[in-house]
Amino acid sequence: MKYIFGPVASRRFGMSLGIDLSPDKKRCNFDCIYCELEPAKPVDIYDNPPSVDEIFKEVKNAVDEFEFDVLTITSNGEPTLYPYLNELIDKLKTLNKKLLILSNSSTINDKEIQNALKKLDIVKLSLDSVNEKTFKKIDRPSKSVNLQNIINGIIEFRKIYEGELIIEILVVKGINDKEEEFKKLNDVLAKIKPDRVDISTIDRPPAYKVEGVSVERLFKLSENIKNQNVFIPTRDKINYKIENLTKEELLNTLKKRPFSESDVKNIFDEHTQKIFNDLLKENVLEEVWVGGIKFYKAYV
Ligand code: SF4
Repeated sequence: MKYIFGPVASRRFGMSLGIDLSPDKKRCNFDCIYCELEPAKPVDIYDNPPSVDEIFKEVKNAVDEFEFDVLTITSNGEPTLYPYLNELIDKLKTLNKKLLILSNSSTINDKEIQNALKKLDIVKLSLDSVNEKTFKKIDRPSKSVNLQNIINGIIEFRKIYEGELIIEILVVKGINDKEEEFKKLNDVLAKIKPDRVDISTIDRPPAYKVEGVSVERLFKLSENIKNQNVFIPTRDKINYKIENLTKEELLNTLKKRPFSESDVKNIFDEHTQKIFNDLLKENVLEEVWVGGIKFYKAYV
């Protein structure tokens, strides 16, 4: 199969069957320093695109063969550069599967792209920094990409999009790992109003010599992101802890910031987990599902 990969178990979206819109080479208008693909000069145009029918035929066969939660449109690069994306999405919709796209946000200011993406169930857009200098350093975009257009585009898209909008911030050591960066991101996120904010770091060796930060640092930085469903994928117990909260303190915390199921398991100490379970029994907590992740928040 040329365009299909998986299904793979993803911590962020469940079991995902991937569609790679650029299997033969990297086609991206960014050249992120954390990219796992070979470095390549950013391009704005998709050369020699395959036909929608060619891709769809493979997807249809794979959908009949595999079980999965979500069909993920992705690329060795940026999937919204594929020129027939709108037509492809219309065909994929006929399969009646949950559809997700992973985009770097570069084209979201384009109305045609917005109209195509709004038909999807989940849209994940990256926003590593809202500071021009940092953005250029980390994402290394092509000259045609403008950060302010991206921010405005995401805000506008949110207004017309009724599905689940997820913003992803990928943190690189020494570049966008400062509190100040996250305070500014928080201001922009308040305007965007996404359904979920994923904060992650490098966990596989990238093409350039850069490093990720610890999961504890991600949690610390996430304290700057207020009133959002923040999700930090974690595998095991970690050293960042929420400890010895009283019932009132935990309730107040959960009013201001929802916690994911894995946060409850991995970062609440035993005492706080017990209080949390009491609150659950008292029915004062609401369960909210976003893109396959369960969050708990207190009714206000
Ligand atoms: S947007 Fe994705 S594919 Fe493109 S350079 Fe960045 S990490 Fe690589």
